[in-house]
Amino acid sequence: MKTKRRTVQFSPNKRNLFFHILTQCNLSCRHCYINPEQHGKKILDRSTIEEWLELFCAPNLKDLGVAGNYTAGPDETNVIFLGGEPTLNPALPHGVQRARKLGYKSITVDTNGYLHHNILEKVSPSDVDYFSFSLDGSTPEVNDPIRGEGVFETCVSGIKKAMSRGFGVSVIFTASRMNIHDLVNMPPLLENLGVRRFFIQVIGIRGKSARSRGDSLQLHHSEWTGVVPRVADQAAQRGIHVTYPKVFLDSSEEFACAGLVADNYFVFPNGRIYRCPLCEDYPVHSLEIREGTICPRPPIRECDLFDLKIPEGCVLNKILHPGNITYDEHGNPRNRIACCMLKQEVLPVSGIS
Ligand code: SF4
Ligand code: SF4
Repeated sequence: MKTKRRTVQFSPNKRNLFFHILTQCNLSCRHCYINPEQHGKKILDRSTIEEWLELFCAPNLKDLGVAGNYTAGPDETNVIFLGGEPTLNPALPHGVQRARKLGYKSITVDTNGYLHHNILEKVSPSDVDYFSFSLDGSTPEVNDPIRGEGVFETCVSGIKKAMSRGFGVSVIFTASRMNIHDLVNMPPLLENLGVRRFFIQVIGIRGKSARSRGDSLQLHHSEWTGVVPRVADQAAQRGIHVTYPKVFLDSSEEFACAGLVADNYFVFPNGRIYRCPLCEDYPVHSLEIREGTICPRPPIRECDLFDLKIPEGCVLNKILHPGNITYDEHGNPRNRIACCMLKQEVLPVSGIS
């Protein structure tokens, strides 16, 4: 099968709401990025979820005093329900159905596969576009040391259950030193399961990874570029639509910061709203929800740094993770770091558009 590769350019007229509706989880993955100290331990109730969904599908967020000029309404807004484990929140079905009624363009639930509170019985395939299952290995031997004992079997059984009920299903693989060797085995597994969408994520130095051994789990330029594009192509040849972060920019590619030219909101249960996921471990969020209103915060905020132009590319990466960047003998960065939100897609040509 022929495949096509493309970079997904940022668009100011498409909004993405990454909606963390709790921080609790039944698992304890080694690379978990959730940080309850920064994001609270509140489990959002039905009325709060409803109220916040309404806030983010309004077309006039451009008046919030952060960079950008955004016009997306609900029909151009995607919501991704996250946690912790979002199915642990009993208000999730209500949130999903409310988002559908409000006219959100697409609704995704990211899950570790445990599908708590019988979620598949409480929502229908017309309510949810995708359940996105996290699997970090093609076997229990690779996945379970990262995500926990028995997690592989539970997650695969959840995938099968969701597919048999007609739900859209995708899989997310977080690549690190612990499992990059196994990425090549994911396309055959996904093909066997009938999964047609695959997201390869790169481990971030956030949350637990930042507190423990994130640096040693992170992939180098050669490990990422030598493996991920090739496996993505192999998956696309099996009819699977693959998305992965670019991470490194070629010399011909322009750098752009999503905080300036896209319309993304990372919302946490304590009301913090970030525009850049790299900043989530720090109290530098651009906005916050106070008494039902989205309010800009005073400087210094993440958005005060987005405009800085540096040869290394992403300024927050340079500040927070300088170890990611290598320099030549003249002191020039060997590779610029792309915005972590910049994605590459590889698609089967006759497949999903
Ligand atoms: S399933 Fe997700 S939220 Fe839960 S521990 Fe793992 S990475 Fe963290
Ligand atoms: S990752 Fe870097 S480039 Fe992307 S939004 Fe954050 S600061 Fe901007």
